[in-house]
Amino acid sequence: MNGVPDAFADHQTDTSPNLAAYTTLRLGGPAGTVTTAVDTGEAVSAVRAATAGGRPLLVLAGGSNVVIGDAGFDGEVLVLRNRGIEVVRESARDVVVRVAAGEVWDDFVAYTVERSFSGVECLSGIPGSAGATPIQNVGAYGSEVAHTIVAVHAYDRIDDRQLEMTPEQCRFEYRSSVFKHNDRYLVTAVDFRLTKEDLSTPIRYAELARHLGVETGDRVTLESARETVLKLRAGKGMVLDPEDRDTWSVGSFFTNPVVPAAFFAELTAARGEIPNWPGADGTVKIPAAWLIERAGFPKGFAGENVGISTKHTLALTNRGGGSTEALLALARTIRDGVRDRFGVDLHPEPVLVNCVL
Ligand SMILES: Cc1cc2nc3c(=O)[nH]c(=O)nc-3n(C[C@H](O)[C@H](O)[C@H](O)COP(=O)(O)OP(=O)(O)OC[C@H]3O[C@@H](n4cnc5c(N)ncnc54)[C@H](O)[C@@H]3O)c2cc1C
Repeated sequence: MNGVPDAFADHQTDTSPNLAAYTTLRLGGPAGTVTTAVDTGEAVSAVRAATAGGRPLLVLAGGSNVVIGDAGFDGEVLVLRNRGIEVVRESARDVVVRVAAGEVWDDFVAYTVERSFSGVECLSGIPGSAGATPIQNVGAYGSEVAHTIVAVHAYDRIDDRQLEMTPEQCRFEYRSSVFKHNDRYLVTAVDFRLTKEDLSTPIRYAELARHLGVETGDRVTLESARETVLKLRAGKGMVLDPEDRDTWSVGSFFTNPVVPAAFFAELTAARGEIPNWPGADGTVKIPAAWLIERAGFPKGFAGENVGISTKHTLALTNRGGGSTEALLALARTIRDGVRDRFGVDLHPEPVLVNCVL
């Protein structure tokens, strides 16, 4: 269980798999079978056959946003490894690039930076596959994939057809979309519209701007945006490194809670100043990490072979020899502590498979 999973190695059919080998947490129990699909047709056929046969199916790619119960998954697991990146439309100003779902996300980001295609550079270093990015509208440092996705290609299990979905149909929200907690669609490829220039999109995130030595709203070269984001992320244990147990995680375990402005006003009246990002719709987003620390759970706070990362309060990690139950027990302690202190509910960001918080 504590071996280092190479989430993007080409496993074929594994008949006595342990899902710990397929997740960045290195947690999860046995599965019926694990089959790796290296092309889209094969993946669609596997999903269609499981649907027709009424067999339980779990789709996985990089395994970096799932918490799988210690009992594992009693069914078929389909691991997506379909590859391919191609420019499908081009104008003087921009390109639309189609990326197969099983491509490694960060390889795609590196590809865009090398070719001076601007738009996803601040999403450098996020683990996992390109096809999973629409699932939770992956985001970091003021950027999210909803800013550049123009279409998601998917197989619809209910209607048994392949379709091209518009961003409106994807219903992107903060760390969510129509695809999250919904196994109706298999994402097969994603189209991104990127501009042909060597400058980043305006830097929106104050910490990133500070490290780049610019003001928010300024633009920098794609290369410097990527390098600085990678450096910042590595310092927080947010780039996968098998040697660094602070990265044996799912990234942020909790989303930043979004509360009504009136509730936030009451909270600050009672508790003093609280960092926040006001939303356009009368809501306020509060950094979960701040709440967790103030509720008494610092970096390094430990459970049974699991613990809060020593580099980032939002990452719950397997220190080696941990279990999903121990990880969830730690998550419950933190969630309840934050609720008791602030009356704010924290919600998990990863998909929980065969386990509950
Ligand atoms: C160290 C670390 C840092 C992270 N940093 C960030 C971050 O900055 N921002 C962020 O948003 N996330 C972050 N994450 C979370 C994670 O990397 C992303 O959510 C990523 O997109 C998950 O990709 P994956 O291929 O690993 O998905 P998996 O974990 O394999 O799957 C996640 C979910 O998506 C479903 N799924 C996957 N692929 C498909 C598909 N093609 N079609 C249909 N369903 C599919 C799965 O069934 C599952 O429900 C981080 C994770 C780690 C470990």
